[in-house]
Amino acid sequence: MSLKELEEKYFFKTYKRLNLEIEKGEGCYLITKSGVRYLDIFGGLAVNSLGYNHPKVNQAIKNQIEKYIHLSNLFLQTPQIELAELLIKYSKFNKIFFSNSGTEAMEGALKLARKWGKDKSKSEIISFHGSFHGRTFGALSITGREKYRNGYEPFLQGTSFCTYNDCSELVSKVNETTLAIVLEFIQGEGGINEASIDFVETINELRNKFGFLLIADEIQSGLGRTGKFFAFEHLNIVPDIVVVAKPLGGGLPLGAFLGNEKVADVFTYGTHGTTFGGNPVACAAGIETIKEIMERGVIDNAIVTGNYLKEKLISLKAKYPGLIRDVRGRGMMLGIELQTDCEKIVHEMLEHKVLVNCTNTNVIRLLPPLILSFKEVDFVIEQFETCFKNFSK
Ligand SMILES: *Cc1c(COP(=O)(O)O)cnc(C)c1O
Repeated sequence: MSLKELEEKYFFKTYKRLNLEIEKGEGCYLITKSGVRYLDIFGGLAVNSLGYNHPKVNQAIKNQIEKYIHLSNLFLQTPQIELAELLIKYSKFNKIFFSNSGTEAMEGALKLARKWGKDKSKSEIISFHGSFHGRTFGALSITGREKYRNGYEPFLQGTSFCTYNDCSELVSKVNETTLAIVLEFIQGEGGINEASIDFVETINELRNKFGFLLIADEIQSGLGRTGKFFAFEHLNIVPDIVVVAKPLGGGLPLGAFLGNEKVADVFTYGTHGTTFGGNPVACAAGIETIKEIMERGVIDNAIVTGNYLKEKLISLKAKYPGLIRDVRGRGMMLGIELQTDCEKIVHEMLEHKVLVNCTNTNVIRLLPPLILSFKEVDFVIEQFETCFKNFSK
């Protein structure tokens, strides 16, 4: 039986997988068992910031597994502490907690917020339509997409939704009982939607007035992807809690949330925890990943190559206005909104040896490794052009 047949036999039907048998990865490329090279411009869904088979990350993993793979969080662990120090240095938050994944980090952030709000009679959590915050019950309760929620009711109490970028709706919903607003400053799954300046200003004003916590979900947009350490740095706002994951462990499972001085002393010993979170091998990989991004020029590449890619996409939009409705995003987090479904384009691009992702039905989402080169951008654009030409005939 082929891998595809075995997968269909053994697995719950949760993933519609690409029918490719990957042998290995190298830089921005994935190579199949039969030796075909694909340029990957969704990079493990924003996880593989440094591409595949990065020598420094691999070496850090090898070094750590020869020391210890797991100790439990009863021990002080050098890789956790070094990674915490780096994240706090680049984020300017005060405290951190490590988890295994994005959704778990979001759960922890929600628990932190709830505990903070207990003696303040604040309990209501507001998030936005089109958002994605994870698949566990807390995170799913604040995820604003029916596709992921249907059938899983009832959800966490004290959660409700507002329309993204709708200032007046938000003003009408926020009050003294508001505990937290959870926001992606660029919605990923929702189709690369950016928070407007007005919207961010409104949130700032409301926070000054009512004193709720602002929780930024930077799981996809964070750690250099948009050309800044966090996407919120492009805007005039600083959240109280920030949640990260995807690229944090250099491809190994790792998430975290960080908080400012307001929430620094909310947790007390034993009130939150995890067995595997902050795994030392994942942290060792994370240290090299963050250093590579922030100290060895990768973030600069995300800015210049991201701008170059966006410019080229905008010229494609000018050429094919009947097909492309919009090009948006920042750095290496870009979306091409089409007038039609993008499933066909994804398949056509696969024929042209480029791996692209489709989200929210009609948005081609580009989340390339931050090490993507101009030459690779040129190749991607050429292949898009060929596809778009066929589709707009
Ligand atoms: C992927 C993602 C999550 C969930 O992370 P998991 O590691 O899959 O649990 C949450 N929020 C955003 C914005 C994401 O992109």
